[in-house]
Amino acid sequence: MADHDILVVGAGLAGMRAAIAAYRAGANVAMLSKVHPVRSHSNAAQGGINAALRGENDSTESHIYDTVKGSDYLGDQDAIELMCNDAPREIIDLEHMGVIFNRDENGRLGTRAFGGASYARTFFVADITGQAILHVMYEQIMKSGVRSYEEWFVTDLIVEDGVCKGVVAMEMLTGRLRTITAKAVILAAGGVGRAFEPSTNALICTGDGMALAYRVGATLMDMEMVQYHPTTLKGNGVLLSEAARGEGAYLLNSKGERFMEKYAPKMKELASRDVVSRSETTEIEEGRGVDGCVLLDLRHLGKENILRKLRYIHEAALEFAGVDMTEAPVPIRPGQHYIMGGIKTDVDTRTWDESGQNRWRGVKGLFAAGETACVSVHGGNRLGANSLLETVVFGKRAGEVATAYAKSQPDFHVSDAHLKDREHAIKAVFDRPAKKDSVANVRLEMGKTMDEHLAVYRTEQGMQTAAKKVKELKDRYKTLPVGHKGKVYNTDLIFHMELGFMLDCAEAICSGGLLRKESRGAHARRDMPNRDDANWLKHTTTIMGPDGPVAGTLPVTITKWQPQARVY
Ligand SMILES: Cc1cc2nc3c(=O)[nH]c(=O)nc-3n(C[C@H](O)[C@H](O)[C@H](O)COP(=O)(O)OP(=O)(O)OC[C@H]3O[C@@H](n4cnc5c(N)ncnc54)[C@H](O)[C@@H]3O)c2cc1C
Repeated sequence: MADHDILVVGAGLAGMRAAIAAYRAGANVAMLSKVHPVRSHSNAAQGGINAALRGENDSTESHIYDTVKGSDYLGDQDAIELMCNDAPREIIDLEHMGVIFNRDENGRLGTRAFGGASYARTFFVADITGQAILHVMYEQIMKSGVRSYEEWFVTDLIVEDGVCKGVVAMEMLTGRLRTITAKAVILAAGGVGRAFEPSTNALICTGDGMALAYRVGATLMDMEMVQYHPTTLKGNGVLLSEAARGEGAYLLNSKGERFMEKYAPKMKELASRDVVSRSETTEIEEGRGVDGCVLLDLRHLGKENILRKLRYIHEAALEFAGVDMTEAPVPIRPGQHYIMGGIKTDVDTRTWDESGQNRWRGVKGLFAAGETACVSVHGGNRLGANSLLETVVFGKRAGEVATAYAKSQPDFHVSDAHLKDREHAIKAVFDRPAKKDSVANVRLEMGKTMDEHLAVYRTEQGMQTAAKKVKELKDRYKTLPVGHKGKVYNTDLIFHMELGFMLDCAEAICSGGLLRKESRGAHARRDMPNRDDANWLKHTTTIMGPDGPVAGTLPVTITKWQPQARVY
């Protein structure tokens, strides 16, 4: 008998929302996470979550249009419509669960402006929005009957007869491997920021979900679409949230000019992230930077305002850059932040093609939601505060759809062959002779390579260099030993497996980048600077072949917004 109806891998916002929805729909649910749930990266989200809820001048139609335009017309419009339509209800649901959103002077839920949005529609809790929501959801999980496997690491998905039936996972406390079976598995394992160095992402954001799915035959989509956030600290990559610009901060070059007036006359600092990151890079490259950065100036917002609404950002700049932003501008530059691509799903979060037409390859019984998935609502560029929205809207949908699916499935038994395979694989790694090369070396080389060649601007030659390097690193990975061979919290072993996941994702990112012969959204090629709707208004796909990644394409779903020139 299967251990659970639903197993959710990941306890960030997407995973928790999925688990709550499945529980409410009457399923026997388990949620599993490699870190304590509230340490998931969702906890680090600062700025807020979008919804056209305030009415007044705003409308869902406008939210949809802004998202389509922000995506550089690569987002699937049916998915975007669904997300924006559900957004207001989701915010109210979160409120009812207990999230204490900031309110305005009239006691109504307050909003702040965010990039690429025609109206201020970002709901927030100071600059700790993710933390506030995640903790409230964890309370809901604790009071429910959801089984929570905390500090368990998934090593493999179990697929038999083309159907996903559970996972092999390691209890990190004891090093014990176990098979956990379920009629439906929902992957909500987050992004892959750490394949780049530096990144704003937590060290745990290693693309495990994408790689797990890729390895069992699922399709990865638009992996080349990697977001560089305009305001990160040099060197360590720490994020200063878009909330700063949302509250009115300026971007200045070395001459003290608000240079965004040149690149985006209307929206200025609040243009889309890809646009702002490119503008900053141009300023720096043309000699108007300050030590490889430009300046984020908040002084005119006033000390009291900064300390009330941007307390965490103030502290981060002070701690990590040694700058008190109430008194001086902070040097910042674009840094890796988010991946728009991920595991291809339909709008109901299924990884397989339910139509039976086999338009893309997937795995029955396997669902995906949140940053690990590509529905796709962000296309070539994600708008700030649309990611938290995606996690709750599609997390909930995953929980509901997977429950209906699980209820229609017969019971089954899974052999322990998968478990044995993983045991042997780990033993083989432990038995490798010691050598000079290490997980840390390969990880750093991968991160630096990706940051050099798949950042704000790209070229054919640079991406070829990166793809070649990733291949070389994958070969080196095959002989990398693990120093520590103990059972209890063997983080050396975990880092080793995470590196394997990241290398798979890096390979897919290079593959997508090399395939897309145009510039769109975050994929800005110096050698092909224009968007090419005639040939490239389509998604790139990557599946794992016997000799490496196999690239393909899928059409973009257009409902009513035809591509236009994108100006801000
Ligand atoms: C610094 C920062 C600030 C941000 N601010 C905002 C913002 O203001 N607004 C916004 O909309 N977006 C923001 N984002 C983006 C947004 O926070 C993320 O995209 C979103 O929270 C991802 O949620 P998730 O549930 O998909 O994944 P995560 O929250 O990353 O959770 C992933 C889960 O998967 C588990 N997991 C992964 N691999 C394994 C494995 N092998 N075995 C077991 N468990 C595993 C992890 O333990 C974790 O529980 C921000 C991102 C960062 C990095």
